Amino acid sequence: MPQQVDPFVTAQRQLDQACELLGLSDAMQQFLRVPMREHRFSLPLQMDDGSYQVFEGYRVQYNDARGPAKGGIRFHPEETISTVRALAAWMTWKTAVVDIPLGGGKGGVTCNPKAMTMGELERLSRAYMRHVAHIVGPDRDIPAPDVYTTPQIMAWMMDEYETITGRHLPGVITGKPVSLAGSLGRGDATARGGVYVVREASRALGLDLHGHTAAIQGYGNAGQHVHALSGELLGLRVIAVSDSQGGIYCEKGIDAAAAAAHKRETGSVRGLPGTEAISNAELLELPVAVLFPAALENVITEHNADRMRAKMVAELANGPTTPEADDILFDKGVTLFPDFMCNAGGVTVSYLEQVQNASNYYWTLAQVHERLDATMSRAFEAVHRVASERQIPHRLAAYLVAVERVAEAVTIRGWIR
Ligand code: NAD
Repeated sequence: MPQQVDPFVTAQRQLDQACELLGLSDAMQQFLRVPMREHRFSLPLQMDDGSYQVFEGYRVQYNDARGPAKGGIRFHPEETISTVRALAAWMTWKTAVVDIPLGGGKGGVTCNPKAMTMGELERLSRAYMRHVAHIVGPDRDIPAPDVYTTPQIMAWMMDEYETITGRHLPGVITGKPVSLAGSLGRGDATARGGVYVVREASRALGLDLHGHTAAIQGYGNAGQHVHALSGELLGLRVIAVSDSQGGIYCEKGIDAAAAAAHKRETGSVRGLPGTEAISNAELLELPVAVLFPAALENVITEHNADRMRAKMVAELANGPTTPEADDILFDKGVTLFPDFMCNAGGVTVSYLEQVQNASNYYWTLAQVHERLDATMSRAFEAVHRVASERQIPHRLAAYLVAVERVAEAVTIRGWIR
């Protein structure tokens, strides 16, 4: 097994490379390497059986030079301050690369929500908001859902914040249910944004993807939506998909609706009639036109990168590729679109949700899609130009675009000249 890398160390390594190429000053590099603010707190909670448990909570505001901090809240048993820091850093580069007027933040609670009742989860969510209410807000820091946090949890947190402030301020948090100040189009926004990036890339590289093959690792929100949308919008034939229990393969193509229904009914894609079983490792090595990692971090490493045969990798998951594997894939001529550009559709529609909240006027689905498309297409164009001019991987090019924008805001503010 590859050694698990501290995600914040990876985030800093990637940033250092960008700072050097941009020729930023030591002071600027030092400032951008660490969060501007961190909050850690204990959350005592009465459980349904009357006992008390104490949870650890975090909110990191990594950088807000370009606008209020933005980033999800994760409820996970393995949540640590280091993961939150790394994700908050990546949020900073993500909002900058798609050029929306927000900074980067992230939050979390170390807990196992799968072992909690709805009542316990609601009390934990409200307690979390009580601890951060003085540091968040539509003009300060706007949380959103992340792993194991849902639109319902966002609704409880919004309600708690409005109770504390005595005002109607739905823009304090995004990813809310559509029936409670959410935005149309948030559900498939991450996958849709990734598909727009691949569409723009195929145009720029002169490729016609119609009828070509794709494989998808992970079959949750991102994976299921990218299955349907890559067929609908790109004409790709998805020949393999997988989840935590393993994968399925069918050379003729796998029907998105049938696979989603099978997963809903049985808990896994495995056993879908008309398909054969493959492992997650085999899926990653298939000779497809496009591979979509949409599950976990650290799945493409120096141990499998040289066996991979995909022509393009479009990262929907955060951190699926290690820095060593990045180098191997670039040398092999594989075009990789990095997570913080490729999966930025989610935060882009979160931003659109906030804009609608601020004006208290809600758009049609077509309007949301149009704005998402324009934002993702512009981001791809900016990154691809730098990658082509400098002959560097798209990940490094995306860092150069994003870090330069953040550094410029820091300079113009006069924090570091
Ligand atoms: P999810 O929980 O809905 O789905 C995750 C999927 O991954 C599940 O199908 C699960 O079975 C599968 N999985 C878990 N372990 C696996 C393994 N070992 N091998 C193969 N599959 C495995 O999560 P999601 O929202 O789809 O997020 C997936 C990735 O995309 C995460 O890295 C997340 O950070 C990233 N992401 C999601 C969004 C979003 O809006 N949903 C936005 C940005 C980034």
